[in-house]
Amino acid sequence: MTQTKVDETTLGLLKGIVGEAGYLDRPDDMAPYCASWRDDWVGQVPLVLRPANTQQVAAIVETCAAAGVAIVPQGGNTGLTGASQPHDTGNEVVVSLNRMTTIRALDADDATITVDAGVVLHDVQRAASEAGFLFPLSLGAEGSCRIGGNLSTNAGGVQVLRYGNARALTLGLEVVLPDGRIWDGLRVLAKDNTGYDLKQMFIGGEGTLGIITGAVLRLHPRPTARETAFAAVSDPRAGLAVLRLLREQMGDALSACELMRRAIIDFLLEHVPGHSDPLADPLAQPHPWYMLIEVSGQGAPDHLRAGLEDALARAMEQGLITDAVMATSQGQAARFWKMREDLAEAQKRAGVGIKHDVSVPVSQVPTFLAQADAALDAAYPGIRHCSFGHLGDGNIHYNPVAPPNWDGARFKAETTAINRIVHDIVAKLNGSISAEHGIGRLRLSENEHYKSAVELDMMRSIKRALDPANIMNPGKTIRV
Ligand code: FAD
Repeated sequence: MTQTKVDETTLGLLKGIVGEAGYLDRPDDMAPYCASWRDDWVGQVPLVLRPANTQQVAAIVETCAAAGVAIVPQGGNTGLTGASQPHDTGNEVVVSLNRMTTIRALDADDATITVDAGVVLHDVQRAASEAGFLFPLSLGAEGSCRIGGNLSTNAGGVQVLRYGNARALTLGLEVVLPDGRIWDGLRVLAKDNTGYDLKQMFIGGEGTLGIITGAVLRLHPRPTARETAFAAVSDPRAGLAVLRLLREQMGDALSACELMRRAIIDFLLEHVPGHSDPLADPLAQPHPWYMLIEVSGQGAPDHLRAGLEDALARAMEQGLITDAVMATSQGQAARFWKMREDLAEAQKRAGVGIKHDVSVPVSQVPTFLAQADAALDAAYPGIRHCSFGHLGDGNIHYNPVAPPNWDGARFKAETTAINRIVHDIVAKLNGSISAEHGIGRLRLSENEHYKSAVELDMMRSIKRALDPANIMNPGKTIRV
């Protein structure tokens, strides 16, 4: 990893590029840029740069390249893998795009929006909606995360089932390369077969190959009809059968299908105010698993309702769903979704959980959950299972919590052993150890353990070719 100390001359040059409004150098001001959302990654830098435009980003990178200074690109700093925070060496600078917030263009015929990389995701959604479109990328951190970060992590979220992840929503990019050159790849083309699809290297690249400064994003027609249901199922296998039934009956209208274990609902009710159990029955035990289902599409506002009601009724007749409620207002639907969005916060407040962001083929989700639960029960009697995620994408946030009589530190010390148990099962089922959040620093060693030598070699070759001095977010994603 690059260890060049940032000398005073370079600091002066960098400050000169952005002017007084464009940098922070007091420790208190820089602290939020150096720590992660969960405070599990905390580093330090001598300077945080906040450029105002692509030319300033290019000048910063060129100056850093000449001086051998490492750069940590940053968007909303909501990433969960230690990729957007600096190391604690003090030898890097943070380049935050949070002042680059211009929506450059929206074209209704192309159905595209072109934005600065620092635009907050929610602002892209709002601009699209005001123009009658949908920008479907949607995740719990959407009020804070920024497009450059979303693309660099290839963010997923709750509508991947229908619209794909960030990769599927990107047509073109503008990127500052590690030597300071600007690549203008802001193409608005659905078809372009002129060689390698270069933008794909930067999407999901976690800032290790360049700094994304602008993007052309794909818009979809804004749905005029939307129905949301909250349902209880006895186990994930029943949930899988419900998903299949919904796909058969609702086709492409199925836009989200989430699975949640009771334990995470309990955390939510206990730790995050304002929530209530939509299927509470004082005379019965709580249900073991829940599903949040959404269908959406064009046409009259209630045309999907009958279809979804019918699908839920069929699932009940077949004994797959044990109870269900359909939202009767937009407010109620929003409350169901707020529950889903607040699950990460609920787990954070509940204390120590060991987090896994895994994916397996959709058909293997029940097998994965059963095998991982059984293996952890055997190794750690009393361990509490806490899982939720995007059943429709085969992506589960599998976050076991310490047995009640264990203290947090003792459980945390088991992280490596627990990761190995869970990830071995994922690998056996041909899954991935990171479905959404990326590798960063958190999964660096795990990725090296599970990825083939050929794949790691290809990744290193790309990194070395584009960033031979290893100044772009070093020590993240791939070690060279
Ligand atoms: P940052 O955290 O700032 O950066 C993330 C990575 O991208 C870092 O490697 C950084 O160096 C790099 N980067 C940032 N900007 C640029 C740029 N302009 N050019 C090059 N590299 C750059 N993620 C999901 O996928 N799905 C979810 O459902 C989801 N839910 C979440 C819920 C909560 C409550 C929280 C806190 C996080 C959640 N996340 C989720 C994780 C996180 O929000 C996403 O990874 C998000 O895409 C990160 O965006 P950001 O702007 O905060 O990026």
